[in-house]
Amino acid sequence: MSTKATNLSLSRVHTRSLELQRRAERFFPGGVNSPVRAFRAVGGAPPFVERAEGAYVVDADGNRYIDYVGSWGPMILGHAFPPVVEVIERTAKSSASFGASTAAEAELAERVIQCYPAIEKMRFVSSGTEATMSAIRLARAATGRKIIVKFEGCYHGHADGLLVKAGSGVATFGIPGSAGVPEEIAGLTHPLPYNDLAELEAAFDAHPDEIAAVILEPVVGNAGCIAPAPGFLSGVRELTRREGALMIVDEVMTGFRVALGGACELYSLDPDLVTLGKIVGGGLPVGVFGGKRKYMDMLAPLGPVYQAGTLSGNPLAMAAGLATVGYLLEHADEVYPKLEKTAKAIADGVAAEAEKAGVALRTNRVGSMWTWFFTDGPVRNYDEAAKSDTAAFGKFHRAMLDRGVWLPPSQFEAAFLGTTHGEAEVETTTSAAREAFRAT
Ligand SMILES: *Cc1c(COP(=O)(O)O)cnc(C)c1O
Repeated sequence: MSTKATNLSLSRVHTRSLELQRRAERFFPGGVNSPVRAFRAVGGAPPFVERAEGAYVVDADGNRYIDYVGSWGPMILGHAFPPVVEVIERTAKSSASFGASTAAEAELAERVIQCYPAIEKMRFVSSGTEATMSAIRLARAATGRKIIVKFEGCYHGHADGLLVKAGSGVATFGIPGSAGVPEEIAGLTHPLPYNDLAELEAAFDAHPDEIAAVILEPVVGNAGCIAPAPGFLSGVRELTRREGALMIVDEVMTGFRVALGGACELYSLDPDLVTLGKIVGGGLPVGVFGGKRKYMDMLAPLGPVYQAGTLSGNPLAMAAGLATVGYLLEHADEVYPKLEKTAKAIADGVAAEAEKAGVALRTNRVGSMWTWFFTDGPVRNYDEAAKSDTAAFGKFHRAMLDRGVWLPPSQFEAAFLGTTHGEAEVETTTSAAREAFRAT
């Protein structure tokens, strides 16, 4: 596939995607295996993807789009990155899974630790949800306490205790939590506004020696992109240390994304536990939880905290992760400046078009993740994000899709790009936005 600018062809045909969606609705609730994919928040039929390469995805009707979803983050090196494809093919020939240890697990772990000095030991799991769920179990065991503090709009996967005031699909569909979570469990999770240290201090005062951990997205991506206010993350570190609670930095989205060492590197953090996912698996299902040795050694078979997984450390997933993280480690000096430059050009280019068109738009961006909020006020927490005009976002989303630009289908999700996005994509995206703002 060439990377030159695509024509901004309008009125794309979606006949085949519509058929596939109808068939899928017979088998899957909403026709999907993860709710935001159903496009309910933006309207219109979700295109079914047939293939992707580099910065482009092609749908079942042959329409081609510049992709700013990137599988929700993992595709930082572009789709079908040749070294990843090659290693998956090669590894598969020796069988996809054994249920026993392989050398590749330690090879990937070594590279993870090179990027994340806060991680002394780790466990590989198969999703971000498993990683955060296990980190919380460990924090409770380590402290003998029950309460978990999280922040409104942050999403840490779909484990029972973490859906309280969660972001991502929970925010997209405006549900306060989830049915099916007993109030006894939800009651152990205390949601607080992001970027507000005074509230956190008050929570510690109200529950002395009861808070096991504070878990956070160090840059929020799941309420749309929200940067941490200066001093917020270091303040959380200080307070948790003082109060004997663990700080869990959930880098499932930001890990290897905002910097090679994620937000831990970008903001000089030294958390007790870190969770990773998305990029670390190179597009295959991998999650990581890790951190201080004294906590990690509490896990079975060394200690009393149980955690396991049939496909944990799966050979194909380790191979794809190694190819991705290995490449990032070797080429960090080129990769991250390039991501910053391209993302800045796109985010600023579209913001400038909005201003010309008189559309109220706030751009929040940290490196190669960003959100265009349809609001005129600042967005520093979930309540401010929720003031966005989601109908205007929906129109914009459809107008962009019509012009060959695929944005995440919700106001409350971050857009991502990768190293295969370049000047041609900046150009096409900016012109598409110019037309989209005129059309909406
Ligand atoms: C995506 C995400 C998760 C959940 O990961 P899954 O692999 O979807 O279970 C957890 N935390 C954050 C910050 C995420 O972005």
